[in-house]
Amino acid sequence: MAMKEFKAESKRLLEMMIHSIYSQKEIFLREIISNASDAIDKIYYKALTDENLTFNKDDYYIKITVDKEQRTLTISDTGIGMTKEELEHNLGTIAKSGSLAFKHENELKDGHDIIGQFGVGFYSAFMVADVVTVISKSLGSDEAYKWESQGADGYSIEPCEKDAVGTDIILKLKENTEDERYDEFLDEYRLKAIIKKYSDFIRYPIKMDVTER
Ligand code: ADP
Ligand code: MG
Repeated sequence: MAMKEFKAESKRLLEMMIHSIYSQKEIFLREIISNASDAIDKIYYKALTDENLTFNKDDYYIKITVDKEQRTLTISDTGIGMTKEELEHNLGTIAKSGSLAFKHENELKDGHDIIGQFGVGFYSAFMVADVVTVISKSLGSDEAYKWESQGADGYSIEPCEKDAVGTDIILKLKENTEDERYDEFLDEYRLKAIIKKYSDFIRYPIKMDVTER
């Protein structure tokens, strides 16, 4: 499977995320949930004008699955999904790095968390995960694709199986170090607290499924 390189700007942003310059790593969850919510919004708005599409409220939700043994945290949505081209374009190219670098400088100067108030986007997943896998099936497509990256070296895309339209973001959490603990993001109560803090306004249900083992 061919490895593709990130665009230069994206790579820079990614490096910043991997080296976790931000004190509040927990905001990755806000970013992933907000993308999931945006993806459901896209179906919602499409259904308003597309008579072949009905929006049944119960079918649209965000689900968080914790696997403690595998050390994975999966955020799934039943949103609009991404085609192969969209995976490539939306996750391989991120153009906001200039403003992010600016905010970072200010954060260091002021010594408090300015960045936490802004959207830092999908790549914030790399603050807590050393492998990020995105499995997606786009509305109207029969094919699903898997995007995967272990960081700045690049990413791969390959066909895969997925029944329902939507996206699964699978985060393989980093191993704990002396200074940093990532296990907290496998803890149901910690996750609930983060969701309450940053994602309380999300208008779709956020479900949680924890496998202890
Ligand atoms: P932003 O949300 O500000 O556009 P992000 O870095 O958070 O930037 O996300 C980049 C893009 O990736 C989004 O604009 C969207 O097109 C795509 N994306 C990310 N997560 C999802 C998802 N769960 N479902 C569909 N598209 C997604
Ligand atoms: Mg976003």
